[in-house]
Amino acid sequence: TDTTTDGLRVRDLRVVFDGFAAVDGVDLTVPSGDIRFLIGPNGAGKTTLVDAVTGLVRASGSASFAGRELLGRPVHRIARMGIGRTFQTATVFEELSVLQNLDIAAGAGRGPLTMLRRRSSVPENVAEALETIGLADRRDQPAGTLAHGQKQWLEIGMLLVQDVRLLLLDEPVAGMSHEERDATGELLGVVGRGRTIVVIEHDMDFMRAYARSVTVLHGGKVLSEGTVAQVQADPRVQAVYLGE
Ligand code: ADP
Repeated sequence: TDTTTDGLRVRDLRVVFDGFAAVDGVDLTVPSGDIRFLIGPNGAGKTTLVDAVTGLVRASGSASFAGRELLGRPVHRIARMGIGRTFQTATVFEELSVLQNLDIAAGAGRGPLTMLRRRSSVPENVAEALETIGLADRRDQPAGTLAHGQKQWLEIGMLLVQDVRLLLLDEPVAGMSHEERDATGELLGVVGRGRTIVVIEHDMDFMRAYARSVTVLHGGKVLSEGTVAQVQADPRVQAVYLGE
C-alpha cells in the first residue's frame, strides 16, 4: 500500500474526449513540499490532467489530495478541499485594489455581510499574503494597473488567503521579464513550504532553475520522471523534444 497521503496522488487517470484518450492512464505522486514541473509537447495532456484534478472534466481512475478522493466531486467542493489553480491569463478584479482582491478571496468562505463590513485593520492572513507576493506597497493600487507579473503574483496571493494547500499553476511565467521570472521562482520556494505545487511550464530555463522534480507527459502518458538532470538525460525525452 502507498503511505503517501500528504500530497497529490493520481492513479490510472484517464480522460477520454470522443473516444480519444487525452490522458491515458497516468500515475503521479507529488509529495507535500514538492515543486513539480509538468512538461511535455503541446497536446501531451498537461492541461487536461489539471482539469481532471480540479473537477473541470470527467475522469476515471483516482486522484486524491491529503488522502481524500477528488474525482466525482463538483469544482467548488474540490476548491474547498484546499486546491487552487491559476490560468495563463490572470483573473483578478481589475477595478478593485490589490487589498480588496485579497479580501474578497479571503472572504469566499464567509458570508456576504462579513465581506462588506468596513475594517480598519487588515486580517493577518491577508497582510501575510501581501508580504509574500511582494505587493504590500501597492495594496491600494487598482489591480488593473499592475504589471503582468504582479497580476500573476496577486492571483497566487488570492490562493494563499484561501488557505490553498495544493497549487496548480498554468505557465506562471509566460510573458514575464527575466526579473519577474526570477521573483516568481523565489515566490514558489516560499509558497512551497508545507504546500504542494504543480507547475505546467514550457520555459525550460525557468524549470531548470526552480523545479524540485519533473514529470514529462507525452501522448497522455508519463514519458519520464525525476530530477531535472535525470529527465534531461533521458533519451526518450530528448527524442520527443528534438522530434518536435
Ligand atoms: P497540453 O496542455 O499538454 O498542451 P491538452 O491537455 O490541452 O495538452 O490536450 C491534450 C489533447 O486533448 C490534445 O490532443 C487536445 O486536442 C485534446 N483535447 C483537450 N481538450 C479537449 C476537449 N475539450 N475536447 C476534445 N479534445 C480535447
